[in-house]
This record gives sequence, structure tokens and C-alpha cells, in this order.
Amino acid sequence: MVPSNSIRIAVLSGKGGTGKTTVSVNLAYAIGNSYYIDCDIEEPNGNLFFKSDINNIVDIKVKIPIINHSLCDGCRKCVDFCAFNALAYINNRVKVIEELCHSCGGCKIVCPKNAISEVDKLIGFIKTKEEGGVKVLTGELIPGIPSGTTIIKELLKTKSDFPQIIDCPPGTACTVMEAIDGADYCIIVGEPTIFGLANFKMVHELLSEFNLKFGVVINKYYPNDKNIIENYCLDNNLKILAMIPYDNKLAKDISNGIIISSNNEIYKQLFKDIYKNIEREIKSL
Ligand code: SF4
Ligand code: SF4
Repeated sequence: MVPSNSIRIAVLSGKGGTGKTTVSVNLAYAIGNSYYIDCDIEEPNGNLFFKSDINNIVDIKVKIPIINHSLCDGCRKCVDFCAFNALAYINNRVKVIEELCHSCGGCKIVCPKNAISEVDKLIGFIKTKEEGGVKVLTGELIPGIPSGTTIIKELLKTKSDFPQIIDCPPGTACTVMEAIDGADYCIIVGEPTIFGLANFKMVHELLSEFNLKFGVVINKYYPNDKNIIENYCLDNNLKILAMIPYDNKLAKDISNGIIISSNNEIYKQLFKDIYKNIEREIKSL
């Protein structure tokens, strides 16, 4: 059984703009002593809700191969090996296409002439701050860098005695799979629109494939009006953890960077109840 103080909860959504970050930030805040870990590395904006200053920045680097052409005999073993087509043999020279390289290190191993070495390439940062008992870790990918899974892997190395809330990238790409690795429980945040439902189903399929326990938070909910996400959950026997109503005042507060569980007792309780619910579910596993 997972000790409740070290629960890791991954928050997902099929697309951007459903309220995934709102749920993640407010859940972390309502819990109190917790971690908010932003793995939405291409657009990390959860930290904007926490107004304190950044207290630490760590550079994240990957290894990129470089070719010593005076040692290379043109055997092309490295080119044939690279599953990502990041090496090409052009004009009698091996060329490294950095944008395609996944830093697997394989080409260096297979080269019979020891003609390949590696250099560090900066791909992003992990920035840290702290506020209201929440440790905020933000992964940030430098624009133009094609893959940031290394940043997510680094973020998830965080060991703690406190619950960790993981704000995943939107969608179902490989960065999402990386971000849910090691999660004890997942939350899918759904928005009751046709587009929202289509993306919701993709995340549902992904979590089912990974056999992960999860519940649903329906955002932008109109009370007394059964919506398409709610119907889908009922039809598929999915647990609904909470419904956040559509509310202009709420939308305004969120767009002004206000943590709603810090200034509104109803929402504070709503997020505390979500957490208690998840704790109970995990304990019963
Ligand atoms: S490190 Fe891996 S991905 Fe990058 S060029 Fe070499 S074999 Fe290809
Ligand atoms: S495996 Fe080594 S020797 Fe062969 S082409 Fe690649 S770099 Fe050159």
C-alpha cells in the first residue's frame, strides 16, 4: 500500500485549456504540504499562480554525438544503427542531425573506430520556488528543442514525504506517458464539449492501457444539465471526483492568476475532498 503522504497524483487532459493546471495547482494548495510538479514543459504556466521568487534553477542537458572525421572510415555502422535517422552519410562524411537525435548513445557504442564522442547540449531548465507549503518545480523546454522527456525524467526523480501533484502535458504523446510513470493515481480533467469529449476518450484509453487507477474532474459544468462528459462517465462506470461549475467570477480569478482554493472556502473544501477521496481509493487497493 502507498503511504498517503507520498502519493503521486498525475493530472491529465486530452487537450489544452480544459483546466488541468487549475486543478493541479489548487489541489496542491488545498493539500498544504505538497509538491506541484509542472511537467507541461512546452507551456509551463502553473508557476504563475505562485507569486514567490524562483530560488533555484538547474540546467538540463542531453548528450549529442560528434564525429571525429580523421578517425572515421565511412563504414556507416552508426548510420544504419540510428533508429531516429539522426545520422546521415553525405559527401563522404557522417552528419549529425541534432534535432532528430534522442541521445541514446548507441552510435558511440557501435562505432568500430572510436570516432564518436559526445558533447552536452542544453535543452531546458528546472526552476524551483515555494509558497504556502507548496514546493513548486517547473520544467521548461527551450523553444525549438524537439523532445523534453529528459526534463520530465529529472522532475520525477523528486523524492519526498509529501504528496506530489504532477501537471502533465496535454494530449497523449510520449511526454504524457513519461509524466504518468510512477503515478499512484491519475485525474482526467474533462471539458463538456464535443471536442473535449473526443480528447477525453483518448486519455481514458491511454490510462486503461497502462492499467492506472483514475477518477474524473468535470470542469466548466452547468449544474442540473447532464453533460456529455458526465454521460460518458456514467456509461463507462468512471468515477467522478468533482464537478467545477462554469462561473464567470471563477474564470476571472483564474485568468488573474489567483489560486481559488486560497481565497474561497467552497473551492478549498472541494479540492480537499478530491484529495481525501483519492487517499481512500488508494488505501483500498
Ligand atoms: S545518440 Fe542515438 S539517436 Fe542520437 S544519433 Fe546516436 S544513435 Fe542516433
Ligand atoms: S560507425 Fe564510426 S567509423 Fe563508421 S561511419 Fe560511423 S563514425 Fe564513421
